[in-house]
Amino acid sequence: MIDEATASLQVQRFVGLRGFPTAAAGQRELIRAMQGCVDARAAQSIADDWLSTETQSPYPTDIRRKISEQPHARKARCPECNGDGWLPRVKLVTYKSNSFALDASEDITHMTYADQLDLRSKLHGPNAQPTPGLKRQDILSCVVPCRCLSPTHKALTEGR
Ligand SMILES: [Zn+2]
Repeated sequence: MIDEATASLQVQRFVGLRGFPTAAAGQRELIRAMQGCVDARAAQSIADDWLSTETQSPYPTDIRRKISEQPHARKARCPECNGDGWLPRVKLVTYKSNSFALDASEDITHMTYADQLDLRSKLHGPNAQPTPGLKRQDILSCVVPCRCLSPTHKALTEGR
């Protein structure tokens, strides 16, 4: 939702189009419809789109339809995952001896890539000296669901 003044700015751009409501009540309905946009940028792009193809003023239903056709107008892009819904993670995992059962998993995404490479070469490089009895460790890349994912999506990925 955007505020009335922001929505009004974009609606006023339709003023030169045929059929633009002269009555304040009619304009208010257009503004109310435009307020359904998620942010000012979305409202601007709705108006841009309409003005680039239409000569007739939109009705409130036209604006609502345009908004529903634009996924980004409805849903704000998540700042964490940029709308992907998934976040890349790097993990240092420790297996229980001689199995692939996880003993521990440490998130090392915050480490620099150079440090991760360094750690990887310590574990697997030519100079790595596996000690008998030492727990096996590995570095894995994975993705985890972002908190912006819908509850349905989360339910599908839980328990993995
Ligand atoms: Zn997200």
